[in-house]
Amino acid sequence: MTKKICILGSTGSIGVQTIDVVKKLGIKVVGLSAHKNVELLIKQARDLNPDILCIGDEKYYTLLKENFPDKIVVTGEEGLISIATYPAADLIVNALVGISGLVPTIEAILAGKKVALANKETLVTGGKIIKMVLSQKQEKDSLPILLPVDSEHSAIFQCLVGEEKKNVKKIILTASGGPFRGKKLKDLQNVNVEDVLMHPTWNMGKKITVDSATLINKGFEVIEAMFFFDIRCEDIDVVIHPQSIIHSMVEFVDGSVKAQLSYPDMRLPIEYALSFPERGKQIAVPLDLVKIKNLTFEEPDFDTFFLLKIAYECAKKGESYPVALNAANEEAVKYFLEGKIGFVDIMKYVAKIIESHRVQKVETIRDILEIDAETRQKFKNLVEGEIS
Ligand code: NDP
Ligand code: MG
Repeated sequence: MTKKICILGSTGSIGVQTIDVVKKLGIKVVGLSAHKNVELLIKQARDLNPDILCIGDEKYYTLLKENFPDKIVVTGEEGLISIATYPAADLIVNALVGISGLVPTIEAILAGKKVALANKETLVTGGKIIKMVLSQKQEKDSLPILLPVDSEHSAIFQCLVGEEKKNVKKIILTASGGPFRGKKLKDLQNVNVEDVLMHPTWNMGKKITVDSATLINKGFEVIEAMFFFDIRCEDIDVVIHPQSIIHSMVEFVDGSVKAQLSYPDMRLPIEYALSFPERGKQIAVPLDLVKIKNLTFEEPDFDTFFLLKIAYECAKKGESYPVALNAANEEAVKYFLEGKIGFVDIMKYVAKIIESHRVQKVETIRDILEIDAETRQKFKNLVEGEIS
């Protein structure tokens, strides 16, 4: 069982829930990081007394250092790497949002740490490279280095315990359908930021909540699953399951299907990743199926939520496509949250960027970061040209 951890993104939705879990499990936190929310970081540091603290935004460095003169205080991207590779930690929880999670994940693996990965953008953009790094570091018959935190991937991971890869026929990812399930494009023209942030079953950070409303989140999870479980996107299905009780399923060659069920509470997958190969202490509320009564399923509406279809196409094409998809989407979500574009525009502009994308080989981290930067610039040129 994990003894000492660092939490990257400790002030976010997953970060805060991770702190709740580690307190209950008695795990020691030796490092914390935030981007701008220095007040919460200070509060967490007083409570947990870690050795090292990182604040992404350099303007808060002095304030943090004044509060903790005896601790190691670091900042910026390099600071994040110092936390990801901090010698005393045996596991790093990556709860960063966006592509900022990629390099720290790689550095942590290279430094011999286990990584509990919530940051899905890491595998969407860098899956191929992470796989290469893992193949150097992962010893045969030893416990996995990379542990999923995303609830669907934790569910699949749990279903696969004791199973052989050759017996897996298909993965079935469940999706709640988000706040606009059943709506058509014409109904979505005037939805505002508040409507989008009202997720029916999960309480999460803003970026992933917007991604869940467009359903690109599920597309990202298809790509994430390809790398986590070494499976083709053709063998991954998505099914809408509005109650969010079944977190995903695996179908085997004999037709048997295994599922993992629980109330939607991220503390369970976090606890599983931190306790693996053991089980935790039942922090989550026990499931009452009689009270729940109905578990229902629907086909996704690929016409309205066409980014899911585009994500499948990008998954199949691979190389620079998922990187471009992620970059365009990160920019689109930012513009939307700033009130500069509408909800349907997120989908429209991301689709336009992918339509004009020309494939490039991805061999190195630098390739990924260059494609990311180019795509963001293309996005800005496109959107600024249209909205000004
Ligand atoms: P939040 O936005 O709530 O938190 C993000 C965290 O990362 C915060 O601590 C934030 O700091 C920090 N951060 C933001 N930008 C940067 C940056 N550029 N550099 C360094 N640190 C940064 O996100 P969530 O917790 O919702 O999600 C985290 C990841 O987990 C995402 O990839 C998401 O897709 C995934 N995930 C989340 C789930 C959920 O239930 N929330 C479920 C499954 C997956 P600050 O607070 O200071 O801004
Ligand atoms: Mg998920």
